Amino acid sequence: MQPSRDYDVIVLHQTSNGEGDIMKEFQCGSLVPGCDWHTRHEEEAEIMRRAVEHMRETHGEEIIRETMIEAIRSRIEKVRNAA
Ligand SMILES: [Zn+2]
Repeated sequence: MQPSRDYDVIVLHQTSNGEGDIMKEFQCGSLVPGCDWHTRHEEEAEIMRRAVEHMRETHGEEIIRETMIEAIRSRIEKVRNAA
């Protein structure tokens, strides 16, 4: 099992001092039609990590190629945190 929940807690502590307005979001449906999975985070690196994990676990992508990485990265959008 991946310790993703623990990682979330660590990230929350690191980013709790200010710049929490702009978030980044990746919607898997923009890459894999019909998939409604999405993730949102301040850091692109964390979105990439989650997206790659999702590709492996949900879409059976054993090998994540550079083209896949670029496809995900190009689809990450900035969103305002509605809080
Ligand atoms: Zn998906």
